Formats: sequence, structure tokens, C-alpha cells
Amino acid sequence: MENAMAVNNDPIEVPVFTQSGEKTLLPRNEFADGLLPAATAYQIVHDQAMLDGNARLNLATFVTTYMDKEAKLLYAQTVDKNMIDKDEYPATAAIEDRCWRMLGNLWHVPNPEDTIGTSTIGSSEACMLGGLALKRHWQEKRKAEGKSIEKPNIVLSTAVQVCWEKFTNYFEVEPRWVPVDKEHLWLDGHDLEKYVDENTIGVVAIMGQTFTGAYEPVKEISAKLDEIQEKTGLDVKIHVDGASGAFIAPFCQPELEWDFRVPRVASISTSGHKFGLVYPGVGWVVWRDNERLPDSMVFHCAYLGGDLPTLALNFSRPGAQVLLQYYQFLRLGREGYRAIQQNCLDVAQYLSSAIAEMGPFELVTKGDTIPVFAWTLKEGASPNWTLYDLEDRLRMKGWQVPAYPMADDLGDMTLQRIVVRNGLSHDLATLLLNDMKTEVAFLEKLDGPMPHEERTASFHH
Ligand SMILES: *Cc1c(COP(=O)(O)O)cnc(C)c1O
Repeated sequence: MENAMAVNNDPIEVPVFTQSGEKTLLPRNEFADGLLPAATAYQIVHDQAMLDGNARLNLATFVTTYMDKEAKLLYAQTVDKNMIDKDEYPATAAIEDRCWRMLGNLWHVPNPEDTIGTSTIGSSEACMLGGLALKRHWQEKRKAEGKSIEKPNIVLSTAVQVCWEKFTNYFEVEPRWVPVDKEHLWLDGHDLEKYVDENTIGVVAIMGQTFTGAYEPVKEISAKLDEIQEKTGLDVKIHVDGASGAFIAPFCQPELEWDFRVPRVASISTSGHKFGLVYPGVGWVVWRDNERLPDSMVFHCAYLGGDLPTLALNFSRPGAQVLLQYYQFLRLGREGYRAIQQNCLDVAQYLSSAIAEMGPFELVTKGDTIPVFAWTLKEGASPNWTLYDLEDRLRMKGWQVPAYPMADDLGDMTLQRIVVRNGLSHDLATLLLNDMKTEVAFLEKLDGPMPHEERTASFHH
């Protein structure tokens, strides 16, 4: 773990950094012939990992970088558990079951006796399973009606997270991209009738768009699908990719109806390792009812003396993260989650309003959905520098605040984004603002364009 100390194995106590392996370049791409002392190998790997920068100052990632010391202790004690060994670790398996049921309850599953879910390695796997269930459901229905199952399609915004591009590619489902434009930066149901047909397996709605943090309005999208059903008879369901928002909305926007309260929502996925507040990697997916998860996707194994259904793309994966998730559920309860998420929202809005006031920036979102917001540079305001330059300047101070192009059709729009996670305190946020002001002042003083190498787009999903 982070605080583990290197133990010097060397009998004659050669000082660290002067031991034999530490004075030479160690192999990069091939195995060495011999061994290294454990302490030396530890020091080398530890020190190379330091070059990654400080995870807590990484404002690009959504993934948890802080857990308390009890969680760290539990983690250290349970790192050896394999989630798939449900017969060896029945207690861990039972806890997994409890966790997704608790999430189903949080998301208003209509009948707790008739629902199904699982942990996954993250939202990506959870989204794949959600997408696969939609596809299988469509296939089985079409087969029963004697219709073709050749050309499944799925309707989604061009600004989805990359896992959906993988889903359509790996599982051969035609993506019906709904383009983003200046009026519609996310999927809101407009023109949906142009994309949906009898081969549509479902529509994806994102609660917490990666690019901006915005919520796609599940209820409006659903209402549009109601209209389409009235006109055409097509009954198209929704998978909610709630990677971030499914852990924010239930606590901080409880009146917002985006979950199983919307009858068209078939399944919901989330990342336990984002605002579920667990270290990477754990995700979750829950289906409205057993009917929405075709039985042909479920593998029945006799564990725990009963019949435990399993479904997953992976086989072995860490069980510790599932235990950590349950730890957080118990430790925090609704009150604790609300306090933490609300604090992140408060810090996000403190930051976004201060950034708006700096002058050159225009907010795209302000951090009142999930605690994530993005901004652009006002058009023509600052001809000598770009948001990429600001990213570089802030990086020199240790902050990672990514700039990146918006999705496809708005690819020439550059955004910069901050993800406020638990651990970015109000105090730390003030230091960030001070550094931003200094760097903006530096950039504004340039009397010619900031010199840079041609930059290839890098986007932090
Ligand atoms: C992060 C994210 C994903 C992918 O989640 P992982 O847990 O990293 O696999 C999918 N969708 C959205 C909206 C996300 O924010």
C-alpha cells in the first residue's frame, strides 16, 4: 500500500540508492537473467510510479483517489479475494448481491423480488452487459415473430463515452449517432423519430455526459419514445449510463426522475469507482426486472446451496472492491453520500463561477448536475493562446486540467474541464484558482502567439 516502507534486505546495510541494482539501468523490454532484492525492486517501481504525478491533483479523472484509513486497511486485508470464486468466498458473494440490490432500491426498482444485477470491473463492462441484454431481448422477440435479426441498431449521442463505441464495434450493432450541435450538446430526444426503427435495440441516455457533465433528460427522451410508440407501435427501451450521475442524483437531486421511475428504463449502469467512492475497479448494472435480462445470458451455478445466476464478461477480478463498496454503503449511508456529493457540487460551483468571472472563459456547464463542468475560450477574445496552453501552464504547477475537442460534429470546439472529486476541498480549490489567475495573466500578456508544437487531440474520458 501507499505507506508501506521499503525494507532493506541487504545484510551489510548498503544505503538505499547505492545498492547494486539501483546504480544501473534496469531492463525495460526483456527479462533480466538474475534476481533483485525485493527492497531494490520495490524502490525502483515505486520511484517510476512517482513520475505519474499526484493523483489527487488530477482533475481530469472521475475515478476515486481518496479513501479513508479503515477502507485502506480493509483493502489490504482482502486483496487476495477473487470475485468469481463464489463458492470459496460465499460471504463476499453475498455482499455483492446486497450491493446491487441496495442500488436497485436507490434507483426505485419496482419490485425488489423481481430484479437482477451484478458487479463488474467498471461501467464499461456494465454498459456492455446492458447493451447486450437489449440486443438479446430484441433478437429473441424478433425471432419469435419470424423477423430478421440481421441489422440491430442502437441510438445514442455522438458525445457518448468511448465504451459505447466499443460496444457497437465489438458486438456488431450499428450505431445510430445523433449528432451534437450548438443547440443540442447532448441527447434530448429531438428528431429521435429519424433514428429509431424496427431494428432499434434501445436508446442510450447518459447521466453525466463525459464531455460536459450534463444530464441527458431521460424523462424527455422517454416521452419522445412514447410518441414514437403511439405512431409506429415500436416499443423502444432505454439503458441509462449513469457512470457518475447514478451516484449523485439519488442523493442530491432526488426529485429528478431519470431511473426506474421512468417505465421505459430497462437497465442502469454505474461506476462504483467514480462517485461510488471506491478505488478502481468496480462497476454495477441492475435491470428493472428479470424479463429485461434474457435468461439466455445468465449462467446458473449452484453456489451457496442455491441457484446463483452469474453474468459477466470477465471471469477473475478483484473481490476487494466489492467489499469496499459495501464498506462505503455502511459507513456513509444516504446522509454521508449526500454530504460528500453535495460538497463536491458546492466546490464545483464555487470554481465554475470564479472561472466565469475571470473574463476570457465561457461556461458550457456549471457543475450543478454531477460535480463536473466545462468551459470554452470566448471567441476572438484571446488570439495568442488556447486552452491547451493553459492546460500546459497548469501542468507545470502540478494540476491536470485537460483541454480537448468536443465530439464529432463540434470537433473544432475546444473544451476544458474540471472533475471535482471527494478530496478536492474548498481550500485546495482556492489554490487552483490562484494558479489559474496567475497563468491566465501570463498568457494574456503575450504579445504574439504562444509557440507550440502541433498538438494531437488527447481526450480524457
Ligand atoms: C467513465 C464513464 C464510462 C466508463 O466507465 P469505466 O468505469 O471507466 O469503465 C462510461 N460512461 C460514462 C458516461 C462515463 O463517465
